[in-house]
Parts: sequence; C-alpha cells; structure tokens
Amino acid sequence: MTLQLHNNVINGDGYTAKIIRTLRRKTASVKIVEGNVSIIVPESLSVDKIESLLIKKHRWIKEKLALQDLVIAIKPKEFVSGESFSYLGRNYRLKIIEGSYPSIKLHQGRFIASVRYTSVNNAPSIRQMLIRWYKQHAESKLIEKTQRYAKIIGVHPASIGIKSFQSRWGSCSLTDDIIYNWKIIMAPNRIVDYVVVHELCHLHHHNHSPEFWRLVDRYCPDYVDSKEWLKLNGKRLEI
Ligand SMILES: [Zn+2]
Repeated sequence: MTLQLHNNVINGDGYTAKIIRTLRRKTASVKIVEGNVSIIVPESLSVDKIESLLIKKHRWIKEKLALQDLVIAIKPKEFVSGESFSYLGRNYRLKIIEGSYPSIKLHQGRFIASVRYTSVNNAPSIRQMLIRWYKQHAESKLIEKTQRYAKIIGVHPASIGIKSFQSRWGSCSLTDDIIYNWKIIMAPNRIVDYVVVHELCHLHHHNHSPEFWRLVDRYCPDYVDSKEWLKLNGKRLEI
C-alpha cells in the first residue's frame, strides 16, 4: 500500500483521508462520518507517523467504510428536488414544480413532479405518484420483454402481471402464469432481461434443476453475473 499526501489529504487504498492538525491533541485518532475519513493528529506529528497510523488502521477503515456504504445504500428516499431515482439502471433526478394538478412524468432526463404547493411536505404524495409511474412502466416493459423472449424461447405464458413482492423478482406458477416484482424495473436492462428469461424458462422446467440453468444460459449467457448483481444490489431497488 502506498499513500500520497496532497493538500493535507492522503490518498489511501480506495479512500482519501483528510488530515486535521490540532494543538489540542496529544494522540492521533481516525474518524469516519458518512463515508469521509479524517485523521486528527497533534500539530507536530510527522507525515511518516501519520502514514504508518493509516496503514495500521487500514483494515478497520475499510470495514467501517463498507458498513457505512451499506447504511447509505438503504437509506430511505426523501422525495426532494435533486434526489436520484433509477429506471432501467439509469438515474434520473427529481425536480419538484408547482402545477394546477399533481402529476409525475419523465421529461428530458428528469422526473418532474407537479404539486399544488412546494411549500408543504409533498413526500408521501410524490412517493405514491412515483410508485404508480413505476408500476405502469414496469407492466408495459415487462409484458413487451416477456412476449419478445417467449417467441425466442418458444413458450407461451398463460398470463403476465406485476405485483409487490417482499423478497423475490418474479414467479411462474404451475398454470404458467408469470408475475414480476415491479421494482425490478429500477435495475439495468440486462438484469431485467435475465429475470424475464428466468421466469420463461420455468415454463419448461418448474424447478431450479441443472437442466433449467442450462436453458437460462442458452438465452442469457451472463446470467451468473446478473444473479450476483441482484444479490448485491437488490436491496437498493426500493423507493
Ligand atoms: Zn426460479
């Protein structure tokens, strides 16, 4: 590990640490707040000493950062202007404007939410409007993708629908009805495609046997990556 010092900022391995020198301290300490690392040291402590302290604390810092990252990732949305919302893996900023009736639309790369008055707390109604928007778009996108892949795979789902699931992305019943979790529409396109292929392959194999995965692999060769992506990022697909 090499550290570079520049303007009182040390570039560590995967993070930067700000050096704060103070006369009030006799010992050094490391502080991490909202993903920002600071190292508070006595005024005269040498750079070498600071570096060796950071190297010694390296593991602890990385662990702490990873933990805070997780906390930030599942931080609840506030539904305020400037906040980002994902659709098919792309982030769109929310802009709240005043209008004669409440509505939400995706326009020129932004989610534009119209509210009666911007001076009051609109978070609950904006959330409801966004959920409705996501559900509508999830339904049409997922139906379109399912029909397209059904032709390629040569299967015929009895019905295609959306629902709110707690911890799954889709389901395929023994009567060949496919239901998707609408939240999947926040994920990148290739991930949505994987979920569609996965459910459609269940029309051939109503299980997760090796034959099932071989079929998934034929239509979605990077399915292992997609599964991994969902495991790591699935919790972020929340509003
Ligand atoms: Zn399955």
